[in-house]
Amino acid sequence: MNELSFERGLNAWRAEIDAPVAAFFSSCVHCGICATACPFYVETGDPRYTPIHKLEPLRLLWEQEFTLWGRIKHALGLSPQITDEMLAKWEKLLYDSCTMCGRCSMVCPLGIDVAYMVRKAREGMVASGHAPEGLINASLRAVRIGSPMGLKFKTLQVQIQHVEKHTGLKIPVDQVGAEYLVLLSSMEIINFPEYLGAITRIFDQVGITWTLSSEAYEATNAGVQIGSSDIARQLVERVVKIAEKLGVKNVISPECGHAYTAIRWEGPNLIGRPYPFRVFHVIELIDQWRASGKLKTEGKESDRLTMHDPCNLARKSGVIQQQRQLMDLVAENFVDLKEHGRLQWCCGAGGGVSSNERAEELKMTAFKRKKAQIEEVSPERIVTMCATCRTQLEEGLEHYNMEIPVVGLTELIAEHLASKG
Ligand code: SF4
Ligand code: SF4
Repeated sequence: MNELSFERGLNAWRAEIDAPVAAFFSSCVHCGICATACPFYVETGDPRYTPIHKLEPLRLLWEQEFTLWGRIKHALGLSPQITDEMLAKWEKLLYDSCTMCGRCSMVCPLGIDVAYMVRKAREGMVASGHAPEGLINASLRAVRIGSPMGLKFKTLQVQIQHVEKHTGLKIPVDQVGAEYLVLLSSMEIINFPEYLGAITRIFDQVGITWTLSSEAYEATNAGVQIGSSDIARQLVERVVKIAEKLGVKNVISPECGHAYTAIRWEGPNLIGRPYPFRVFHVIELIDQWRASGKLKTEGKESDRLTMHDPCNLARKSGVIQQQRQLMDLVAENFVDLKEHGRLQWCCGAGGGVSSNERAEELKMTAFKRKKAQIEEVSPERIVTMCATCRTQLEEGLEHYNMEIPVVGLTELIAEHLASKG
């Protein structure tokens, strides 16, 4: 790594140190309570995985350059020099052992938002060349091809034809004037193609006009995951440009927690202006249609179902009751995990960890927290509403020899749509 990229990384950090970061670092009392909320620390007992410790190089920079005491300490040689080797060492802590799930922020007595700072710290890491290869490649594919997994529209077209044949319904593409632009995630298209069929049937029943776009079909924002605002902005702009071109009033984020927070909360700040449309997670809308009576279902599942709340949806966006109201509609034997909603435990795969092959073993270790939670309620099936969480749940359960099927909530609702007429 050359001196130039190291300096570029430090400059990126200097630009990221804002009032909240300064307030958070100066108020931390080093109590370590945040460690008790982090699945990576809890399941390994490794002190390096204490949330606030993952930010130590950024904290050093803040202290050494933004505080008088820190400047004196540094001049007297009482504070370690930040080096490129140090950044290389912290790369795994910032990318492999943090999903930016925000659970640590919920328990910190000072309200320190560690996830907010990890997001900022990644800006400097990527600028200095210290980001995992898997995430670098995903980001490049997202910019060049339009999907972090390199999936092209023609692959989606095959899915579209399949769903149209199966449902007898037309899937609109590039439809100017539709009310809703629907985004999908590559992981969903590849792993859970049934999602497209489910939304097609639900939209048909509630009678909305909607469209996919051949130019902006991807919801995932690899730029947010790797910590590059430049890439994140380009990916948001792609969706905004198409939404404006089509004149839609709403954009629907799919069953992907991260994609939802990226487009809904980070997006307007990234492009520096408000959107001329609204953004919803698909579950928010389905619940609205339930409340208004547009969504009509019949029958209920009778097996014991539990639910995993995606961090980005529940903790970070407050979407908690909607999915439970929908479960009430279609399940008669639903039991919540003991810690759920805002305090639910992360599955261990978000924040780009799922695209980081190097983190595979650690990801499965972190999953042990979710496994323990699941064992407490002994469900027959698990429902969730994020393709990344769902993949991690499926892989984790298989890894630990637990035969519990996982299902997406949108599909579950579609299975209970009342028949026409
Ligand atoms: S819980 Fe808060 S105050 Fe305590 S060490 Fe963690 S970040 Fe610092
Ligand atoms: S955001 Fe989540 S994964 Fe990251 S340090 Fe905090 S609790 Fe751990």
